[in-house]
Amino acid sequence: MQEPNYGEIVYRLDKHDRIFRVNESWNRFAGANGGSELRAPRILGRVVWDFIVGEEVIRLNQALLERVRSGHHLFDLPFRCDAPSVRRFMLMDLWPLPDRGVEYRCRVQYRQEREPIRLLDPKERREGKRLRMCSWCRRVDIGRNTWVEVEDAISLLDLFLREKPPPITHTLCPRDKHLLDHENG
Ligand SMILES: [Zn+2]
Repeated sequence: MQEPNYGEIVYRLDKHDRIFRVNESWNRFAGANGGSELRAPRILGRVVWDFIVGEEVIRLNQALLERVRSGHHLFDLPFRCDAPSVRRFMLMDLWPLPDRGVEYRCRVQYRQEREPIRLLDPKERREGKRLRMCSWCRRVDIGRNTWVEVEDAISLLDLFLREKPPPITHTLCPRDKHLLDHENG
């Protein structure tokens, strides 16, 4: 089933990184993907870092925020926001607001439906050696500095033979660690 067009997903942070406004698209997107605990009003007033997993990912996001608060707009930063049965290629703009606030505007550029990936299902029970996944581009580290799409990792690492998928650690791939070096602000 095709998912709806969510439109532009907008949220705003205050100077303490607390979420103080989200739009209706955020609520629809969050409700469909993360459940009701990610919808307003439950997230309003919470610090955004409560919802981001992985130290490196948080550091990158903090650096992006700092960049924006020093007066830069960031446009069309590509990132992925996948679900088990869909790849979503997203773009993000960040705008400075008065008093060190920041507005995020995210949109789906295009999407590809796929067979649901058990490895990405948060309800799966897990065991085995941890896999490292990039939170920005959703690629998986298969060793020797090689990061591949999750479907390729499953086949290259023979993960589909397992009864339970391995646990996942969220990190950044080497390419996306340097996102700040060549963004367009
Ligand atoms: Zn990456």
